[in-house]
Amino acid sequence: MMLPKWHILFAFLFAYILYWFTSMTIIDASLIFLSSVLIDFDHYFWYGFKKKDWSLKNSYIYLKKHRDIYKPLMLFHTIEFHIFIGLLIFFFQGFLYILIGMMFHSVLDITDMAYRNKLGLREFSLVRYLILKNKKKDSIFNIEIYLS
Ligand SMILES: [Zn+2]
Repeated sequence: MMLPKWHILFAFLFAYILYWFTSMTIIDASLIFLSSVLIDFDHYFWYGFKKKDWSLKNSYIYLKKHRDIYKPLMLFHTIEFHIFIGLLIFFFQGFLYILIGMMFHSVLDITDMAYRNKLGLREFSLVRYLILKNKKKDSIFNIEIYLS
């Protein structure tokens, strides 16, 4: 997990550069910035449900300390959620900028994880997650064993 401060910094620079060098509006650029930062709220929800604690500060402290624990499913980070947002572009063009922000965030996350050799810490596909969860009793498919 890349720390929010870096996501905020990189997202700001990315949105700022796009704003100046393309014809996009300040609203479009803001959507890119916000989606690129707020996508990480799935980590907060994961912490909230797991710990039954909805303090934003506590979740930040916990997730920072346990940066490299296996997090089974981060819904907003899955391929399927990106596709879902992509389909919404047909109904509202603003989702294009939300998708760009999410993809920018994912590139940073994956680069960071690959660099630290931690790509196995997250499930990237909701479908794969559900299949593996159903087959959990079969040890061959028990991803938690593989990753521990
Ligand atoms: Zn992330």
